[in-house]
Amino acid sequence: MARIVMKFGGTSVADLDRIRNVAGRVKREVDAGHEVAVVVSAMSGVTNQLVKWCQELSPLHDAREYDAVVATGEQVTIGLLAIALQAIGVDARSWLGWQVPIRTDNAHGKARVESIDGTLLIERMQSGQVPVVAGFQGIDPVRNRITTLGRGGSDLSAVAIAAAVKADRCDIYTDVDGIYTTDPRIVPRARKLDRISYEEMLELASVGAKVLQTRSVELAMKQRVRVQVLSSFEDKPGSLVVDEDEIVEQPIVSGIAYSRDDAKITLRRVPDRPGVAAAIFGALSKANVNVDMIVQNLGADATTDMTFTVSKADLARAQDVLEKARPEVGFEGIVADPDVAKISVVGVGMRSHAGVANTMFGALAEKGINIQVISTSEIKVSVLVGGDYTELAVRALHTAYGLDGPA
Ligand code: ASP
Ligand code: MG
Repeated sequence: MARIVMKFGGTSVADLDRIRNVAGRVKREVDAGHEVAVVVSAMSGVTNQLVKWCQELSPLHDAREYDAVVATGEQVTIGLLAIALQAIGVDARSWLGWQVPIRTDNAHGKARVESIDGTLLIERMQSGQVPVVAGFQGIDPVRNRITTLGRGGSDLSAVAIAAAVKADRCDIYTDVDGIYTTDPRIVPRARKLDRISYEEMLELASVGAKVLQTRSVELAMKQRVRVQVLSSFEDKPGSLVVDEDEIVEQPIVSGIAYSRDDAKITLRRVPDRPGVAAAIFGALSKANVNVDMIVQNLGADATTDMTFTVSKADLARAQDVLEKARPEVGFEGIVADPDVAKISVVGVGMRSHAGVANTMFGALAEKGINIQVISTSEIKVSVLVGGDYTELAVRALHTAYGLDGPA
């Protein structure tokens, strides 16, 4: 017997037939003798609609009211799933975030989970009942207000609840059947990974692999929650996210991710003197603009060109902030280019193998793809290339690292 948290995303609960299908899957685990808690998202599209309504009424809407609105999607699905479970003879009860309670800070719209009391859920599970918990939401106990955890936050809810009830496993059911070496829509020969380490999954999620929300992987790694990603539409084993030690044969590169969410900014002829970088990036950080990759090219005349990336969503704000900082910093001009893609190769094997970056540069050169910016971490190499080259670059790298499965 095991204790399992099962999480179902929006596409898995998109209509009543799919909710019945989910109920059937939950019943199978219950019948197998497991203790089960379920976490669900809103029906697909519902949260987007709720967000849109808030924006239409007022672009600068109050964040507490935004949360009151967008948290409602999950209230519908927990009630419906509890009804569907009861209808097939499974004892089930719905739980809103505050009823658990899932305590968060007061950063409405992107709240952080501070603590979850698992006592009540564990009691119910032990008595044979299935708690059906609303993902995405919590409560700020100070002001007694509903909070939400940021878009895609129900993955985080599931992992946090799995940690709180000391679950043996957190199964994330979704519309893909696992974690792949890269996006199978781009590379049909991408392979499903049986296992991937927390560290690698975290890097992949943070550079654009969309299968798990980044913060949920961070938490799983910290709390050592075993996460499985699997399909709610097919019966096959998924991919396990586990500790590195549990992976016997560790490839050098495990996966390749891409993101078109970044934009490139170049500051022309920045004076080459101490304090300049601090002035530029200080101003951006004060405006809450995250900077990712950075390069600086030394010019001959005591000026440099400085290139960096920000998220596309922040581009306009970044340009505005930089324009205002221009008199103080004294650069000559700003060039913005939103048409770029960041391609990243990730693998814990890089720690012990040299030449990983070189393979990347070689493979891209062979396809005539120009590298605009490079950045590295212990287990990741990322490059920025022209947006049009995204697919070509991902395919070339997938082959270069020997990741292609059978055709
Ligand atoms: N329903 C929320 C969203 O769409 C949470 C989730 O799906 O994870 O962002
Ligand atoms: Mg979702």
